[in-house]
Amino acid sequence: MKVFDIPNEMTTWSQEQRREGRRIGFVPTMGYLHAGHLSLVDEAKKQADVVVVSIFVNPTQFGPQEDFATYPRDEQRDMTLCQEAGVAAVFLPAPATMYASDASVFVDETTLQHGLCGAKRPGHFRGVCTVVAKLFNIVLPDVAVFGQKDFQQAAIIRRMVRDLNFPVSIVVAPTLREPDGLAMSSRNVYLNAEERKQALGLNRTLDVVTASLNAGESSAETLRHQMCEILEQHGLRIDYAEIVDADTLAPVKDVAQGHVALIAAYCGKTRLIDNRVL
Ligand code: AMP
Repeated sequence: MKVFDIPNEMTTWSQEQRREGRRIGFVPTMGYLHAGHLSLVDEAKKQADVVVVSIFVNPTQFGPQEDFATYPRDEQRDMTLCQEAGVAAVFLPAPATMYASDASVFVDETTLQHGLCGAKRPGHFRGVCTVVAKLFNIVLPDVAVFGQKDFQQAAIIRRMVRDLNFPVSIVVAPTLREPDGLAMSSRNVYLNAEERKQALGLNRTLDVVTASLNAGESSAETLRHQMCEILEQHGLRIDYAEIVDADTLAPVKDVAQGHVALIAAYCGKTRLIDNRVL
């Protein structure tokens, strides 16, 4: 497995792969890898000949009060997991090699980012779009795999690729869960035993909303209230609970197949997200 920490060296390797006719699959991550990340690597392997994983805790997508400094990191373990998963190359840049001190060009999606996480984390998706655009230019992937876990992120990246003509296919892979249903996340490591139990409330809420919809309830307002009630019963502090159109991410009134229920909630100090396509 190759490991690159300088963008140009990563690009040279990718250009060689492409010259030799290999399709490059790409999985961007912030590291502290778990089975959810590795399921994206498996998907990328199906779609391409060689897989590149990037590990970069991107400072520009964290707000000033957020957990950039404490975000969990374990590069050695990540390397071992990537090697075992058959990753061909890891791109692990130092922040100084990614951003010039006077960087002044950013990618700003202007519609889909307004609600949900974008409303709660100003500047987050500008940071995400900018770093993903840079990573696409550095890694030159044919296909990039993202997780449904970050539903709004995947929708915004798709939009960026469409609107800026990036020559890359975007694949969105399902959310991997712990056996009890909690969506895997690098941030789950923050949870103490009590919070770990509360955290089950996110998936449980999505179960209940699905059951209500299947039982004939289609008012988004009613379903949203139900979502809030169950989250609160679990001791979670709601950041948002919404039902939206999967493409436009606009809130809906009457819920139908293909709409998406999304939750962000604080479990103690840890902000967790989850979603389900209904
Ligand atoms: P992150 O390291 O949190 O930036 O995530 C990197 C990629 O992994 C993103 O595309 C996420 O959506 C995806 N991801 C995170 N958690 C999961 C999960 N539980 N199952 C599948 N994909 C995930």
